Amino acid sequence: MANILVTGGSGFIGTNLCLNLLNLEHTVFCVDNHYSSLKSNTHELHSKDKFNFLLHDIINPIDIDQDIDMVYHLACPASPVFYQKDELFTLDTCYIGTRNILEFARKKHARVLFTSTSEVYGDPLVHPQSESYFGNVNTLGPRSCYDEGKRVAESLLLTYHNKFNLDIRLVRIFNTYGPYMHPGDGRVVSNFIISCLQNKPVTIYGDGSQTRSFCYVSDMVSGLINTMELRDYNGPVNLGNPEEVTLLQLLDEIQNLAGTKISPIFSEPRVDDPVKRKPDISKAEKDLNWKPSVSLREGLKKAVEYYKNIVLIDIS
Ligand code: UDP
Repeated sequence: MANILVTGGSGFIGTNLCLNLLNLEHTVFCVDNHYSSLKSNTHELHSKDKFNFLLHDIINPIDIDQDIDMVYHLACPASPVFYQKDELFTLDTCYIGTRNILEFARKKHARVLFTSTSEVYGDPLVHPQSESYFGNVNTLGPRSCYDEGKRVAESLLLTYHNKFNLDIRLVRIFNTYGPYMHPGDGRVVSNFIISCLQNKPVTIYGDGSQTRSFCYVSDMVSGLINTMELRDYNGPVNLGNPEEVTLLQLLDEIQNLAGTKISPIFSEPRVDDPVKRKPDISKAEKDLNWKPSVSLREGLKKAVEYYKNIVLIDIS
């Protein structure tokens, strides 16, 4: 069993990952500043043995007395609503925060997996997106604090590998949804589900013809763990579900599952919002022997059930 640090461990993917690692009987050290995560996620994790929580912001250096074998570095505001709230903070988290985590991993001789993003491909001109695509990112747009932040963090990771022989894993995460996402995250899946359950109108930015490909979080977590466990594997590797839908199709599917019919309000498209997104996961299939097993319908069904419980209770 390993000692594992998860940065951003009480965030959406972080909580699901911590629960999985604890089920595998690892000792988990979770670091989070609760900037964009639900405090209630940490309460749930606290009930588990072998779980340790540190309220800490990674833009400050981190130290832990115990040996650490692996680091999953997830900490970063990840939804447009959160990462655009304070662009400087997002940039600092990506660069200074990642640098602090890499220094920590170096000191501990730990393997480190960094969660990069499909946003490094920007508004892609190539479809589907494979790891060899360099992307189409507006360096000055409203998404650039996150997109460029993640890109420079990828560069940091590779530099630490080349210069210090740090054992790295670089994963690019595509749109993911499921339990433990902050209901105020502003993501399309959570927004649509919550609006349907509350019978409130949804806003669609643009005409709803833009596409995304949504991965259920349990598949994402198994992909992350597979990547971490593989020997001598740096990546980059895309993780996501290639089942591509338009936002209008997504809304239809959610309405059917929630049993409601609501009329969307169409609003101006967001600046630099990718028009199409779909991961090419052939590398993950080949190298990690991984592919998603939860269909969009099955995953949305589970997500609707989850939000049915939480929209009725405290969502602080
Ligand atoms: N979107 C929308 N209504 C919402 C939230 C998002 O129309 O309430 C759109 C958004 O403009 C984008 C897509 O849904 O085209 C996915 O947005 P999200 O924030 O979930 O993730 P992104 O892929 O942009 O990071």
